[in-house]
Amino acid sequence: MNLIAPHRTSDVLPFAKTPAAPGFGVYVHWPFCAAKCPYCDFNSHVRRSPVDQPRYVAAFTRELKEAARRSKGELVTSIFFGGGTPSLMAPETVGAILDAIAANWAIAPDAEITLEANPSSVEASRFRGYRAAGVNRVSLGVQALNDPDLRRLGRLHDVAAALEAIRLAREIFPRLSFDLIYARPNQTVEAWEAELNQAIDLAADHLSLYQLTIEMGTPFFELHKAGKLKVPDGELSAELYEATQAITAARGLPAYEISNHAVPGAESRHNLTYWRYGYYAGVGPGAHGRLRGENGQRHAIANEPLPETWLKMVESWDSGATTDEALSLEEQADELLLMGLRLTEGIDLTRWRKLAGRDIDRASERDLAHHGMIERLGPDRIRATPAGMLVLDAVVADLA
Ligand code: SF4
Repeated sequence: MNLIAPHRTSDVLPFAKTPAAPGFGVYVHWPFCAAKCPYCDFNSHVRRSPVDQPRYVAAFTRELKEAARRSKGELVTSIFFGGGTPSLMAPETVGAILDAIAANWAIAPDAEITLEANPSSVEASRFRGYRAAGVNRVSLGVQALNDPDLRRLGRLHDVAAALEAIRLAREIFPRLSFDLIYARPNQTVEAWEAELNQAIDLAADHLSLYQLTIEMGTPFFELHKAGKLKVPDGELSAELYEATQAITAARGLPAYEISNHAVPGAESRHNLTYWRYGYYAGVGPGAHGRLRGENGQRHAIANEPLPETWLKMVESWDSGATTDEALSLEEQADELLLMGLRLTEGIDLTRWRKLAGRDIDRASERDLAHHGMIERLGPDRIRATPAGMLVLDAVVADLA
């Protein structure tokens, strides 16, 4: 594994409090976008003709009913509309899907209901409708606070539209997060520090800060391969990451996950359900779910990604699942490690041991701890340090 210098962590990560229960989430995937961004490998599709939203509502309703049948007794603590671009949905569509969720599960009175939105003016004009439908948190895809970079990223909005969408979202929704992408082509540490400070000035209580990754099959991948797109190398990426951790911590939004930062108490409850390895239903094209099976099994479910095929499947069988398999205990232990080590609170080793049927490999743990990649938080909790977060896949592989 590619180890970097040992790192002092105690002044960067707050000591984790006792984590709460993971909760149960419902994820709704809206798979359409106005245009495809050149770095994006999400399940998102551009359609020339208008999407038949009532037909999709009917399909979501059928798939939700089927997911609820398989998760009776769960209390929904969060709902997340992701995509794609869910802010292309009419507020009535969002309202009808929320009604279908409420018709099938009990919903916690303080449930977090998030919708991902792009900050164009057309989409911002729907914000009041989403709020009226029940959305109480919006996650804006701002991505950059300078126009040339927004254009390079293929985004359809400019900084002025982003600032207006942030202003409007803060006025309308009780909670707001926005995303930025860093480690962009030609970005210096100084430029990113200035942009991040500006973002924190604008932020409410949550920011998602992702490093640009070059994904296979995207136009950026081809440009990068041809030497026409230069992204920061490993060393500069590490510097950018460390600057991000230091600035957000100093300004009251410390990292609680590898790419997510919040004022303590304002973490995304929905995403915490994934990272704390809770159960969740996923509906819509390409959505994933983890549902409780019989005899304590955990089922991994993955849906058909192509919207039109998913639609026909649900209309025929009430489900668009192409994968539905019971995970072995060993597979669950691996997933728990993979998800939990993303969090600064780390993972509960007692829970991991129960699944794995063995203790964590002591020699690997000693080696990783010696190199400053992981640390213990008491006898039964382990977490990745910021240095370990930079090479998390390798850390997980070593421990698993
Ligand atoms: S708006 Fe989001 S989901 Fe759609 S193409 Fe761009 S990055 Fe991908």
